Amino acid sequence: MVKAENVHKSFGHVEVLKGIDLEVAPREVFCLIGPSGSGKSTFLRCINHLEQISGGRLSVDGELVGYREKGGKLYELKDSEVALKRRDIGMVFQRFNLFPHMTALENVMEAPVQVKRESKAVARERARKLLDRVGLADKAGNYPSQLSGGQQQRVAIARALAMEPKLMLFDEPTSALDPELVGDVLDVMRGLAEDGMTMIVVTHEMGFAREVGDSLVFMDEGVVVESGNPRDVLTNPQHDRTKSFLSKVL
Ligand code: ADP
Ligand code: MG
Repeated sequence: MVKAENVHKSFGHVEVLKGIDLEVAPREVFCLIGPSGSGKSTFLRCINHLEQISGGRLSVDGELVGYREKGGKLYELKDSEVALKRRDIGMVFQRFNLFPHMTALENVMEAPVQVKRESKAVARERARKLLDRVGLADKAGNYPSQLSGGQQQRVAIARALAMEPKLMLFDEPTSALDPELVGDVLDVMRGLAEDGMTMIVVTHEMGFAREVGDSLVFMDEGVVVESGNPRDVLTNPQHDRTKSFLSKVL
């Protein structure tokens, strides 16, 4: 579903991604861990067309991100083409970024109606099902300010799912939550994984990575230091940098 080959990304003279190679299979839960500043968010943003890579190849579902290949040449995609591709990728951030003036239900309906020109009736029906799926059927009429952080994050997940993405990106979805609210969000993500969603999850929740993850990558300073089965990497890290990081977070 995602293939990165020698992906580089620089901001000015600062190289943030220094040759990332990895593959995410369909239906896989792919966990990405690493210290702050190692390039995890930048990598997710590259996958989601929010940043353009400076070198290498990056593809989603067999298609290059940001470019079309024709006759051995690369052509930059137009904004409208990028917008179409971004519909297939859902992203959930540390901060929930819900529209404050809309109810939970309206937040979830918004993109299908505005972007896909779906009828309100169809969008509302799906939004209700999605809110039910994230355990918030009874909060459909609440505004974000009337929801806890964990509830807002679950609405944000429902909102991303409303576009029926083939890939979900999670960037530290529980890092901004009070500890007692983390479990409900992780449960929703676990359910998604069980339903076969392809997910890339940047997280410090090692329990989630161990139990739900199919693969785990440890990134540091813009390179993949170590990768493998989460159980193996977490219990038997091979590299000093991985060991040092895990000793701080476990
Ligand atoms: P992580 O998510 O692993 O904490 P980030 O991908 O956010 O790391 O950041 C990696 C590095 O890239 C950091 O040093 C950060 O300051 C830098 N960086 C991220 N975005 C930008 C940007 N738009 N301009 C300049 N530097 C950036
Ligand atoms: Mg980050």
